[in-house]
Amino acid sequence: MSQKGAGAKIASSRDGRDTRNGRRLFGTNGIRGLANVELTTEFVMRIGGAVGTFFREGRLLVGYDGRTSSPMLAQAVIAGLTSTGCTVYNVGMTPTPAIQYAVRHHKMDGAVMVTASHNPPKYNGIKVIAENGIELSRQHEIEIEDIFSDDRIRKADWNAIGEARQLPGIFDVYREGIKKHIDVKAIQKRRLHVIVDSGNAVGGLVAPYLLREIGCKVTTINTNIDGAFPSRTPEPRPENLGELSSIMSVVGADLGVAYDGDADRSIFVDESGEVHWGDRTFGLIERSFLQNNPGEKIVTPVSSSYLIKDIAEEYGGEVVWTKVGSIIVAHTMKKVKAKLGGEENGGVFYAPHQPVRDGAMTTALILDIIAETERKLSELLSELPSYYLEKDKFNCPNELKEPIMEELNQQIEGMIVDTTDGVKISFPDKSSILIRPSGTEPIYRFYAEGKTRRRATHLLTEYKAKLHRLVDELRDD
Ligand code: MG
Repeated sequence: MSQKGAGAKIASSRDGRDTRNGRRLFGTNGIRGLANVELTTEFVMRIGGAVGTFFREGRLLVGYDGRTSSPMLAQAVIAGLTSTGCTVYNVGMTPTPAIQYAVRHHKMDGAVMVTASHNPPKYNGIKVIAENGIELSRQHEIEIEDIFSDDRIRKADWNAIGEARQLPGIFDVYREGIKKHIDVKAIQKRRLHVIVDSGNAVGGLVAPYLLREIGCKVTTINTNIDGAFPSRTPEPRPENLGELSSIMSVVGADLGVAYDGDADRSIFVDESGEVHWGDRTFGLIERSFLQNNPGEKIVTPVSSSYLIKDIAEEYGGEVVWTKVGSIIVAHTMKKVKAKLGGEENGGVFYAPHQPVRDGAMTTALILDIIAETERKLSELLSELPSYYLEKDKFNCPNELKEPIMEELNQQIEGMIVDTTDGVKISFPDKSSILIRPSGTEPIYRFYAEGKTRRRATHLLTEYKAKLHRLVDELRDD
């Protein structure tokens, strides 16, 4: 198919690499776009062709999330992959971590997952997974982008076209895999009551069954899969988990958990109904992990709370800070041989199981800690150092992002600054502000943290005003 024939607009960037609507194909977490507008069947079939060419007649899994457009786009991916000679095993609807686990278990060459994770229902996306279960490195994404834009998509001879087979039952080995890393007997003994909110997405295919198998009493809400996500947005955030939060104390549950659209991230609610940010529950896992494994490295993006550093210092661990992005965390963990990583958005990477975000594994780890300590989640979290986090964003035209960063860097000379991703300024009172330009949208993101809410809010207001002034000045120039 010619590039013109593809449904998405293909523009050419200055470095000669074709991009979609002026952007490269892969963003921070795979290829994303509006279903049937940007991600058309024609476009996705070509992506499948480029991915299949990259994998050279390999054996690949294909799976998809619960979005309305996902089965259609999965068929397009399969057509593209098999046309290059790859053999495809269709695992059907699945959480992303379950297909990542299956890649290694079945010794596949890789996988393609059709999902837009936490994005609104009209979006979809493609994640490409390597043989080790981790999403491809940027270098390999560029190879696929080059195959796509140079029109080097392989066409197999008629008698070498790949077969498309079905591979049902990947959830059984995935659940068994998770159970190997927790004390099932101790959890069974506690008879914990857990409420699972899968937000009408694929998390409901695995977690409720896993939790019942390990002896929990499970109540599910929003478990019917519905691509319109009628219950809440697929991004679990404190402000949209009101339903889960309000049920907790009414039914006397011990733990509530909500997953994102492809169930690699999990956000927890304590027995009183309080919703906790991901880095606090990650901190709890970190503390328990370092108590058993002192001296280990903990990998986390600069957007995470200093809580992670405080816990590492107290329990003899070492924090490795990275840029924001789950793929970067996973690849860094591999590079520095770390067993644990985590993000403030509820992504926890537990490498003894698999070095990728995994919502069901994270839930099992939290239950393991509750069972072992015989404490309530609220009590456990109250023992951790407390920080207040304020997040916000700020509209800024893409062309002004670089000059603003240069100007800001001059203004903050002499301060304690970390430039791993954007600019993170730290203050002696353990407060900090991270200002980072989004790689995909014309915005700046702010993460302000302080030992009091007032300090965090103050930092946020101060630096937003600073950026406002810079934008105005640069516009006037
Ligand atoms: Mg996700």
